[in-house]
Amino acid sequence: MRRDLPPSFIDELHAALPGQVTVNPTELARHGRDESSLPEVPPDAVVMARSTEDVSTLLRLCHAADVPVIPFGMGSSLEGHVLPVHGGVSLDLSEMNAILDVRPDDLLVVVQAGVCRVPLNERLARDGLFFSVDPGADATLGGMASTGASGTTTVRYGSMRDNVLALTAVLADGTVIQTGRPTRKDSAGYDLTRLLVGSEGTLAVITELTLRVFGIPECMSSARCTFTSLSDGVAAATAIVRMGIPVARCEFLDAASVRAVNAYEGTDLPEAPSLFFEFHGSPASVQEQAQEAHAVVADFGGSDFTWTADEGERRKLWHARHNAYPAGLAAVPGARSLTTDAAVPLSLLPEAVTRAESIFTGQPFVWSMLGHVADGNFHALLLFDPADVVASDAAHGAAKELTREVIALGGTCTGEHGIGLGKRQALVDQAGESTVAVMRSIKQALDPRDILNPGKVLFPVHT
Ligand SMILES: Cc1cc2nc3c(=O)[nH]c(=O)nc-3n(C[C@H](O)[C@H](O)[C@H](O)COP(=O)(O)OP(=O)(O)OC[C@H]3O[C@@H](n4cnc5c(N)ncnc54)[C@H](O)[C@@H]3O)c2cc1C
Repeated sequence: MRRDLPPSFIDELHAALPGQVTVNPTELARHGRDESSLPEVPPDAVVMARSTEDVSTLLRLCHAADVPVIPFGMGSSLEGHVLPVHGGVSLDLSEMNAILDVRPDDLLVVVQAGVCRVPLNERLARDGLFFSVDPGADATLGGMASTGASGTTTVRYGSMRDNVLALTAVLADGTVIQTGRPTRKDSAGYDLTRLLVGSEGTLAVITELTLRVFGIPECMSSARCTFTSLSDGVAAATAIVRMGIPVARCEFLDAASVRAVNAYEGTDLPEAPSLFFEFHGSPASVQEQAQEAHAVVADFGGSDFTWTADEGERRKLWHARHNAYPAGLAAVPGARSLTTDAAVPLSLLPEAVTRAESIFTGQPFVWSMLGHVADGNFHALLLFDPADVVASDAAHGAAKELTREVIALGGTCTGEHGIGLGKRQALVDQAGESTVAVMRSIKQALDPRDILNPGKVLFPVHT
């Protein structure tokens, strides 16, 4: 239920943050939706923050008046994370986009929370560096930290949980805190950095991040191959990881995903279950890694192994992979996607993918699957017109069934997208009531008035 704003609260906001508050309907609508299939829920106002002080000022006001605050980066999340389901203020951090300090000797960078990953990498490249976490969208670093994001290179370089070293954050009452240190190791007290990473804007608002970066590898090469069945491809990929071949990327796409990508991108990739690889290292080592991967692929019945050190070809392959999501959407005009995000222990991935295929086959919606196979994490795009109740109900039912199966296999309902609105019950089913009660105690301690992104991750206290 929406909470009513106190009378003249919007005037108070205008007075405290002049020129940074809007109630323009287009802006409210833009901040009331994300990439999920959920319907739009506009906030009461949007505030554009330009500094940590702005965030602190806003939170002090909202805390005093019991008004919800929903941090907003790019709105590319997939589980209703940014929808103001209890009303309140959408706090847009995208104008906090300064890269504050690049420290090549320390392999660190300090950024404001609204910096997006593509401009960050353009800047880092001038120093021969890159930031490794690459969710498909050009998301903000604050949003990526808050969802615990990962991407295609996580198998080699880790996720946001591994690469955020320190944070500046603002608590619900406006208090500014620093967590972590710009060091490789830190054993001082409770790990508040990792508590905030993945907290989806429910515990604090992140305003600055100190991130670990890497040197751009001397050589990068890519390869692809096809299989007659998806589970054979997945089994080959997991074998490659278990053998310790240091792949930098290893992704699977089912035949439907490749078909959608070909139609969207104008590529002519073989329309069969496929693995895409990337290798980083010296020229000799990328060749050696590719040869080793090729041998494993052949053992699992893979064919058509195509390897290249050509930079243009490598970029083209990964551009195609990163466009698999819009390509899937474009394949079904008017469709929205319910995107699953299961992750299982590596050895169980072929089993999980096979179960997913059998759940989806014959259902009244279009579907395709792809995944970060080397991390045991895969997505199904369940595509349907939101107005088609039969297809929508079937897709939600199928996603729930897959989640149940994945939890039963010892996996997780979400490897990287987070809980948002859509997976709150799955979190209870997976973690258990006692563990969720601990999460609720943490929430209560940090945000006793439940103003920070209320109703996300945990079922709401206010109804
Ligand atoms: C095509 C496509 C592909 C994707 N692929 C991947 C993928 O491979 N891996 C992956 O992990 N995700 C993926 N995603 C999901 C999405 O890009 C990530 O969840 C991303 O991290 C969200 O960043 P954002 O800036 O858009 O955050 P938003 O969507 O704006 O916000 C996400 C959550 O973080 C909170 N938040 C935002 N900024 C802050 C802040 N500064 N302080 C506190 N809380 C904050 C919000 O309140 C919300 O709960 C994909 C999405 C799309 C559309």
